[in-house]
Amino acid sequence: MLSIKNLHASVEDKEILKGINLEIKAGEVHAIMGPNGSGKSTLSAVIAGNENYDVTEGTVELEGEDLADLAPEERAHKGVFLSFQYPVEIPGVSVTNFMKTAINETRKANGKEEMPANEMLKLIREKSELLEIDRKFLSRSLNEGFSGGEKKRNEIFQMAMLEPKIAILDETDSGLDIDALKIVANGVNRLKNEDNAVLVITHYQRLLDYIVPDYVHVLMNGRIVKSGTKELAYELEEKGYDWIKAELV
Ligand code: ADP
Ligand code: MG
Ligand code: MG
Repeated sequence: MLSIKNLHASVEDKEILKGINLEIKAGEVHAIMGPNGSGKSTLSAVIAGNENYDVTEGTVELEGEDLADLAPEERAHKGVFLSFQYPVEIPGVSVTNFMKTAINETRKANGKEEMPANEMLKLIREKSELLEIDRKFLSRSLNEGFSGGEKKRNEIFQMAMLEPKIAILDETDSGLDIDALKIVANGVNRLKNEDNAVLVITHYQRLLDYIVPDYVHVLMNGRIVKSGTKELAYELEEKGYDWIKAELV
């Protein structure tokens, strides 16, 4: 599904990613953990095509297609989803209407007609029921006055509606209480299937109690320095990152 080879990326001539290799197959959930400043958010931004970062070497491929020349919107249309770390508020535009527009833009970009209104309603109903999102929430203005948990709910709803091939959830280190963690985890667990893949980026082992990853990778100083299964996450929780640093020297 997603294949990253020898990826190097810089911001303002400072190299942040220093040769990342990562293969994520359909049906898999991968987690990336690592200390603050190790490059986790940079990696997710680079996969999504954020133009503030320069890819100086290496490739990112989605189902065998090199994404290098594609803008963030084009990547999104092809099925790359990145949870919004800094969601914009759009007063007067409801969660539902924002989603309708996004769906139709995606369809247009893929040469499809607009989704008929009744089909759209059915999809919204189906996905909101799956995620236990109530009607009142769907008619609220996008992100306006949303709590941390509501932002997460909205993100997961967007993911459910867009049905991405690869969903990247960059869980920032702040502001995720246990309820928000559960919203994210339940959503991911309900939405993952054999045809998509999930990359969860987190500072906390705790999230991985709820989303059980197939593989865990440790990112340090711009490199994946260790990979394992979920046991590795427990080991990190218990021992921190220093023992890995010690192994590296
Ligand atoms: P993490 O998500 O693992 O905490 P980041 O990817 O946010 O790490 O940051 C990795 C390093 O890159 C840090 O040293 C950070 O200061 C730097 N960095 C990230 N984005 C930018 C940017 N837009 N401008 C300058 N430095 C940046
Ligand atoms: Mg950080
Ligand atoms: Mg980060």
